[in-house]
Amino acid sequence: MMVNIPDKMKAIIKEKPGRGAKLVTVDVPKDLGSHDVLVKVYATSICGTDLHIYLWNKWAQEHIRPPQTMGHEFAGEVVAVGEEVSMVQIGDFVSSETHIPCGKCKQCRTGNMHVCQHLKILGVDMDGAFAEYIRVPEIVLWKNDPSIEHVWASVQEPLGNAVHTIFVEDVTGKNVLVTGAGPIGLLAIEVLKTAGVAKLIVSEVNSYRRELAKSIGADVVVNPLQESLVDVVKRETDGDGADVLIEMSGNEKALIDGLTSLTPAGRASLLGVYDDDVMINLNDLVIFKAIRIYGITGRKMFDTWYRVGDLLKNKKLDLSKVITHVLDFEDYEEGFHLMEEGKCGKIVLKL
Ligand code: NAD
Ligand code: ZN
Repeated sequence: MMVNIPDKMKAIIKEKPGRGAKLVTVDVPKDLGSHDVLVKVYATSICGTDLHIYLWNKWAQEHIRPPQTMGHEFAGEVVAVGEEVSMVQIGDFVSSETHIPCGKCKQCRTGNMHVCQHLKILGVDMDGAFAEYIRVPEIVLWKNDPSIEHVWASVQEPLGNAVHTIFVEDVTGKNVLVTGAGPIGLLAIEVLKTAGVAKLIVSEVNSYRRELAKSIGADVVVNPLQESLVDVVKRETDGDGADVLIEMSGNEKALIDGLTSLTPAGRASLLGVYDDDVMINLNDLVIFKAIRIYGITGRKMFDTWYRVGDLLKNKKLDLSKVITHVLDFEDYEEGFHLMEEGKCGKIVLKL
């Protein structure tokens, strides 16, 4: 069933290899498979992955086949459903997991859909959310509580990265170190504030983001280019070191300093993605310290989404400081420039 849907729409696409993105008019993807849903996008936030596609870095060159609509973090309204769709209805306020699992492989069948062997990614392997409408398979749709505002609902996917990274083990009453206060690190600070941590130490090289980290609620903010992170963490934890490392910089030095700052038998969760192979002294930093390291990819489906949705629905999180810019869809270039300069937290485009 379909009502009042135009044939054409605005979309921000990666038109061709090289730097940039273009606002164009394309067809609305009305041809729905039996399990597909058409969503009218209200708000869509810019991810570091979108910036990589915009800048056309090595990863983008290897993964993106232009022309393709960018974007994957969004909130919107269901406007049409395929014949077999039963999870959502026209009019529902929804967001979506970005990772589309096959539902059939060993991982999918054993509670590990987020590492499906045949994962497809919205806005990477198929057209994305920087458009007035997006077609999404129902398996990844998430129904939002209607009380959540559109802009906040649109950042649940990266917020889910933070929630997944933080809560793989208990954090309550612990000394926590977050390395890297980019958009996801800043979301992590907001989440950690709700979790009753004893002390929250944040390390960040960018001064704009250090200020933001402080104003969101970090207890101690460190510039690792000016002071020794290891010394500060020791000092702030009575010489013991941090109980938990939340690594969100993707920087080798931050990782090594973070692991060095951990107390023996501590826990590290690594979300950051590194440009190159990383050399660490496993004996000294991990094995003889009996450290537990978790590699974190995406969100647990859908455990993470229930947590994120409930935190927002019950107004336990305040995203007003983390979301530093809400721009008109047409002003996407400004968003990419702000991200390139690092003078932002999370940026959302409104349609
Ligand atoms: P981002 O690159 O915007 O943020 C990283 C931050 O780390 C920046 O603010 C940067 O200034 C800071 N930083 C760099 N070097 C540092 C150092 N030595 N010490 C302290 N801070 C330092 O990225 P983001 O969007 O916030 O994402 C965080 C990380 O998580 C990135 O590496 C990203 O690629 C990765 N990521 C992973 C997944 C996953 O599923 N594993 C998903 C999304 C993002
Ligand atoms: Zn699978």
